[in-house]
Amino acid sequence: MRYIFFIIISFSTLFANAHIFVYHRFADDRYPSANTTKQELIKHFEYFKKYNYKVVPLSKITDKLEQNEDIPDNWIALTIDDAYKSFYEHGLEIFKQYNYPFSLYVYVQATDKKYGDFMSWDQIKESSKYGEIGLHSYSHPRLQNLSSKEIIEDTKKAYDTFEKRLNIKPQSYAYPYGEYNARVTKALKENFDFKFILNQNTGSVNKKTNIYDIPRIALVGKVNINHKLRYKTFDATWISPIVFPKDGILKSVHAKVDKKYKKLKLYITSEGWRDVKVKDGIVDEKLNIYLKRARTRVMLGPDVFTISNNVINKIKTKKQGE
Ligand SMILES: [Zn+2]
Repeated sequence: MRYIFFIIISFSTLFANAHIFVYHRFADDRYPSANTTKQELIKHFEYFKKYNYKVVPLSKITDKLEQNEDIPDNWIALTIDDAYKSFYEHGLEIFKQYNYPFSLYVYVQATDKKYGDFMSWDQIKESSKYGEIGLHSYSHPRLQNLSSKEIIEDTKKAYDTFEKRLNIKPQSYAYPYGEYNARVTKALKENFDFKFILNQNTGSVNKKTNIYDIPRIALVGKVNINHKLRYKTFDATWISPIVFPKDGILKSVHAKVDKKYKKLKLYITSEGWRDVKVKDGIVDEKLNIYLKRARTRVMLGPDVFTISNNVINKIKTKKQGE
């Protein structure tokens, strides 16, 4: 008997894919939609250990990106947004037990003004012995609703306060709510010397990832960590939608992809998945969908785990010009 093995290398697996996860609160059952229990956290960490995943400092991954080098498939970086007190009280000890580094993103106003649920500067300093600390804005605004001038003001206030309290310059930034657009990114990139910026779009990181647009997968509630680790970023260049349509009607999805695809799957929030045709590397799907949600996710890819993520948010402001 003869066995013939076919090795199929698809476009999406040409590059190694590391994963970055984001946690919020720990062992805090008042907020189930942002919470990770201790048992759940241990479950994730045991999974990483058992299947030989390597939890590395986030900067190790971004160094690879800077040098345009492949990132090993089994690398994982763990981030924590907002610097809630519950991380210090319940999460940190588990990270320490496993010797897993993390990156903590500080909501500066909440810490500086001592809002009840948030870590103090001393607790952040203590945590910095075990992880990296980055910026998560001053006032936790929805950046897309601010003018560029307001974005710069908020970030400058956050940057200066962070530096004064911790005696270090923040190296990186995580968008509040993971919300941003090209104008937001431009304001941060051009006015601050952040080495990298993180979003909150489901996907993986490979050498082609834009260092100012790094995807992170949210881990909240009960998750199937094996599924999350299967996510891969699919390469697509989005032509539309780029912004939320003014009349709320999504008229088409238009993107450029690798020419080898003849059909793909398209996902739209509150519509679900559908099949779309690809012609000469172009997806141009005519639609007429009224978007019910202010936050709509449009995803495209060959399968539900290999996707390019595009989130459009309704902007709620009078002064959205600049
Ligand atoms: Zn946040």
